[in-house]
Amino acid sequence: MSHPGTTSAREPFRERRPQFWQVAKRCCQIAASVDVAFFFLFHLLGSPILAWVNVVSVAMYVVAYRALGRQQNGLAISLIWAEVIIHAGLGIVLIGWEGGFHYYLLMFIPALFVSMRLRAAVIALAGLWSYYVALHLLMWFIEPLQPIAPGALLGVYLFNLSVVFAMFSYLSFFYLTMVTAANRKLRRMATTDSLTGLFNRRHMTYLVEKELARFQRNGNPVAFLVLDIDHFKAINDQYGHELGDRVLEDVAGIIKAQLRTQDLIARWGGEEFLAVLPDTRIQSAQASAERVREALMTHDWRAPNGERIDITISAGVSEFRRDDDLNSAISRADRALYRSKERGRNRVELETV
Ligand code: GH3
Ligand code: MG
Ligand code: MG
Repeated sequence: MSHPGTTSAREPFRERRPQFWQVAKRCCQIAASVDVAFFFLFHLLGSPILAWVNVVSVAMYVVAYRALGRQQNGLAISLIWAEVIIHAGLGIVLIGWEGGFHYYLLMFIPALFVSMRLRAAVIALAGLWSYYVALHLLMWFIEPLQPIAPGALLGVYLFNLSVVFAMFSYLSFFYLTMVTAANRKLRRMATTDSLTGLFNRRHMTYLVEKELARFQRNGNPVAFLVLDIDHFKAINDQYGHELGDRVLEDVAGIIKAQLRTQDLIARWGGEEFLAVLPDTRIQSAQASAERVREALMTHDWRAPNGERIDITISAGVSEFRRDDDLNSAISRADRALYRSKERGRNRVELETV
């Protein structure tokens, strides 16, 4: 059984790569429009058989398009395959290899790998190659069955070449967009905490190390805030984990709103947050922590039944020193946090030594 939003090896193939099927629909539209153009073109060129082939082609694309809309991807792919293979074959046999209809067959190479499992794609590829070579050899030995004037042949060739150029460009652009979006999503998943959207601990460690290296070079002050929600376990126990999660999300949002854009903010542990404030002295970091504390305290926290909940946060503040590393700086902020807890919570303490 497949679960929504996940991709497992056992999931039916047609449910994967939804973007590909989206682009297949777009290709059906483009191909059908091209075939409408062909219908008139071949009538003008006095090649009625090829003209009427396009009517059948448009019908096949319409059915394929609707099949894609109903998720009948197998049917759609078969229709598109049949259309291109027959149409290209007829075009080549009727007016000759020089008409450029064979280029359409090449367009399937990338699509094969996206629409099929690897084994099937390799088999289909071998079949496509054989067909392509066979047609080429055939036209080496026979004359086109319905030749057109050389000027018209050149026109058809240039038209086919341009369509294939345009469609390849569109497909390449689509693949690039898809890969870029997937990369961006992966990076976000690897660097942020999914509940709060803040940096996760691993990425924060990396960012802070960089910030500290900069401090070692230029000596600009860097402040640390460690913030921990007070009696959070009691909130979970009393109102449930789900509400606890919502509180965490909102607390993250409030912290973010109270700090500056250049400040690095992470979910450091369960209900503990770390903020690193570049170019900030400990006194202004303290003021920032106070702002966060007050904003949280005055926020109107409510349980689903409308009951008011008290949410407060305790914070410890420290500043980076020359002989510090990440751990020693954070552990000083941690000591200050511990003091805030000891002295009654809902307060900000500094660790200056
Ligand atoms: P203190 O004031 O001393 O910090 O008390 P506390 O209850 O906040 O601290 P404690 O460390 O005892 O409990 C932290 C709680 O945070 C326990 C844990 O269930 C909860 N927690 C951690 N991560 C999550 C989470 O992702 N969602 C929810 N709902 N709760 C979480
Ligand atoms: Mg806590
Ligand atoms: Mg804690």
